[in-house]
Amino acid sequence: MSPFRLNPRTGALLLALSALVIACTKVPITGRKQYNLIPEKLMIGLGKSQYSSTLSKHKLQRKGEDNQVLQRVGKRISKVAKRSDYDWQYSLIKDDTINAWCLPGGYIGFYTGILPTLKHEAGMAFVMGHEVGHATARHGSERLSQHLSVLGGMVGLYAILEGKTKLKTEQKVLIVGALGLATEVGVILPFSRMHESEADAIGVMYMAEAGYPPKEAKAVWDRMAQNTGKSVIPVFLSTHPNHEQRKKTIDKWLPQAQKRYQRNKLDRETTNGLW
Ligand SMILES: [Zn+2]
Repeated sequence: MSPFRLNPRTGALLLALSALVIACTKVPITGRKQYNLIPEKLMIGLGKSQYSSTLSKHKLQRKGEDNQVLQRVGKRISKVAKRSDYDWQYSLIKDDTINAWCLPGGYIGFYTGILPTLKHEAGMAFVMGHEVGHATARHGSERLSQHLSVLGGMVGLYAILEGKTKLKTEQKVLIVGALGLATEVGVILPFSRMHESEADAIGVMYMAEAGYPPKEAKAVWDRMAQNTGKSVIPVFLSTHPNHEQRKKTIDKWLPQAQKRYQRNKLDRETTNGLW
């Protein structure tokens, strides 16, 4: 669920901008300190434009109970996320893919294909919490900051190759490309898994705060893992930590989440099967 493809020109422009503003911020719930090279307003703008271009390529389900549940859960979760400055929007996309995402600024997409895995409102609340967590923890901005640092390093390397070696241009391009790939796999992917664990922690706390039973978080991942056994790996799982690691993270946060849930518990059933 990586929302952005960056073209080099945009990258260079962002790099120049980012040299002006380097902010140290704190991730909600986990309290981890992070450095963001990119101003949040710019990320929200990127999120907004990415949202409308993604939605324009899909059919949306605007009516019916499924969409009503999505709107209800989205509003409850975004309320506890305490970012009233975000432009929260929730779209149900008609697509069999098992996926959901939230772009910077609170632009959320759920695919109809994920609904059977969520099973009920509480299941949706966990995945909603996880996605909203990616946005409030500014993971997109952090990943993009990292891409830009990589890009900066690559430009520097190319300059060295250009000046002091007798390699042919094609060879240089090959070297830079191979290093780029290594960087992608070696640096960015593990970092992204850390983001996924962090989004799980935030998700379980947000769902509990919004009044949904947090123990349902693990049940969602169990159902997701069952789907993984089939021939098609859900898109949702492709960048995510393994199942056992995931459950360990949730277990760690569950006692605190239970306390929040007891304080905010909804007076209606949220685990009745819907899908
Ligand atoms: Zn995620």
